Amino acid sequence: MVKKLVQLILGVSVLMGVLAGCGCKHEFEAATCQKPATCKLCGETEGGIADHQWENADCIKPKSCSVCGETEGDPIGHKWTPATCTEPKTCSVCGQIEGEALGHQWEVATCTEPKICSVCKDKEGEPLGHKIDEIVTSVEPTCTKQGTGEGKCTVCGETVKSEIPALGHEPGEWEVVKEATFYEGGKKAKLCIVCGEEVENEDYELYDEEKMKWYKGACESISYKSIARTPDDYKGKNAVIKGEVSYIVEENKDGKSMYMIYTRSTYGCYIEDPFYIFIDDSQIEKSRILEGDIIICYGELDGLYDFYSSKFPQMNVKYYEIKESN
Ligand SMILES: [Zn+2]
Ligand SMILES: [Zn+2]
Ligand SMILES: [Zn+2]
Ligand SMILES: [Zn+2]
Ligand SMILES: [Zn+2]
Ligand SMILES: [Zn+2]
Repeated sequence: MVKKLVQLILGVSVLMGVLAGCGCKHEFEAATCQKPATCKLCGETEGGIADHQWENADCIKPKSCSVCGETEGDPIGHKWTPATCTEPKTCSVCGQIEGEALGHQWEVATCTEPKICSVCKDKEGEPLGHKIDEIVTSVEPTCTKQGTGEGKCTVCGETVKSEIPALGHEPGEWEVVKEATFYEGGKKAKLCIVCGEEVENEDYELYDEEKMKWYKGACESISYKSIARTPDDYKGKNAVIKGEVSYIVEENKDGKSMYMIYTRSTYGCYIEDPFYIFIDDSQIEKSRILEGDIIICYGELDGLYDFYSSKFPQMNVKYYEIKESN
């Protein structure tokens, strides 16, 4: 009713203005929820008042007009999320907090579980581990396998199995596990004095002197008749022969010198059981082999050799010794 009256009075004054023939070039200010569009210069108005500029209600403010401050209804109020161990009570809408976090309800750590919160189940730290005063061995460890033991925890009473570490090998002295020969190297090893397993090994070779000794040791004395009768049976055999050098053909075969020796003496003279022997020239020591030398040969039998139609047993000599000279 009051508004209507104000409007009526304003209307009359405008009419009077028009009647008065006011020549105002109006400059209207926009209408608000409180007043209609009004001319800044003459105060003349136009139309009615505008709607309120409502802003939505939130946690703490009711719905309100941003222009005139008029309100409608109540604030919505906070949407509280209850406090937890680590977070205080918090509004899920505006994030406002109230009070403090509750803090964890810790239960003490045990042998197998760390400290744990009874509310949120958060864990902290490490389990305490069992306390075992005495371990009884149930499986003995060996050099390479771990053993097992058992003990009772003095805290929780649980029977706990434990590993007993392997003992490791105990290496003995170096020993020959494969003899080196003239032909190939051997192997030395350290064996475990407990289980006998090989712990460490290394290859070895014979020295030249040892090789010679080995070779000479492997040569047997075979009767001339046997060799001469069935030469093929003795092919490749290591043998030792002694005789007198009676004939020399130097550089006869593949850089070897050939010698004919008689290997049986009768009445102090070597005159029977001839052999052809071949000696690598590189093997001939500083002193040459001469006719009439008594020579001991170690080598490999190689069947018969045909020299100017005289077939005699032959030997490839590896080592030789000159014993005496006539
Ligand atoms: Zn005006
Ligand atoms: Zn308003
Ligand atoms: Zn809120
Ligand atoms: Zn907690
Ligand atoms: Zn325990
Ligand atoms: Zn061992």
